[in-house]
Amino acid sequence: MSSSKRVTPVTGLRLPICRTCGVQYGAPRDDCPICLDERQYVGWEGQQWTTLADLRADGRRGQLDEEGPGVLGVGAAPSVGVGQRALLIRSESGNVLWDCVGYLDDDLAAGIEESGGISAIAVSHPHFYGVMTEWGRVFDAPVYVHAADRDWVGRPDPVIEYWTGDTHPIAPGMTLINAGTHFAGGTVLHWADDPEGRGALFSGDIFMVVMDRRWVSFMYSIPNFIPERPSTIRRALALVEPFAFERVYGAFWKRVVSADGAAAVRRSAERYLRFVLEDDA
Ligand SMILES: [Zn+2]
Ligand SMILES: [Zn+2]
Repeated sequence: MSSSKRVTPVTGLRLPICRTCGVQYGAPRDDCPICLDERQYVGWEGQQWTTLADLRADGRRGQLDEEGPGVLGVGAAPSVGVGQRALLIRSESGNVLWDCVGYLDDDLAAGIEESGGISAIAVSHPHFYGVMTEWGRVFDAPVYVHAADRDWVGRPDPVIEYWTGDTHPIAPGMTLINAGTHFAGGTVLHWADDPEGRGALFSGDIFMVVMDRRWVSFMYSIPNFIPERPSTIRRALALVEPFAFERVYGAFWKRVVSADGAAAVRRSAERYLRFVLEDDA
């Protein structure tokens, strides 16, 4: 790929990236706090590290694929970490990268630049931090992280903007919502001005789009099957209630609720709470 525009070259090529979760740190260290947390796990072979330079040398490349109207999926092939994919939301007021991945190279940056570049980056929670600081620096874009998750940031940098409170507008028609399920700073993004004009919610695995893609679920830990607290789910529901949306874009490739998204979130929460709270008759 080539581009007439210029983005800053990728520089953090030798900084350590956790092989299991794909998160990059600003300096070498023995452990990965995100993987030591009870919501994640240390790889079965023990803690292992890689770098952007090694991932590229191993033959890895960026991957761009349409995920929905105005939404381009961004990942790596072969995948990095647990197979996260980000989403480039192509908005008239400037593209927003939703979530991040543990990979970036100059060819992928050029491909993104050809798709209009990136004006802002927003991430749902630590499992999707990837190499977000690198992305922010290459595209000279602020990286929005909820302040409640500040301690999880592996590569602190002035490019990261910590926001507080329940909601935060980042561009016309783009609102961050601190749903708070899965992580205290757990964030979803509402896009009011999608090309279909019906609204879209970008949920990472804060609201997890499940295999039956008419539904979502709410987990404190997904790999370790720890359910989320009912009071936390009720708070999240109340926060998204004012927003209309047809699609829900989940955390992984093709995990998308394609219709009636707001009702799907509501009915999924009702079903979940019924199972968690009701005793056998
Ligand atoms: Zn890790
Ligand atoms: Zn997660």
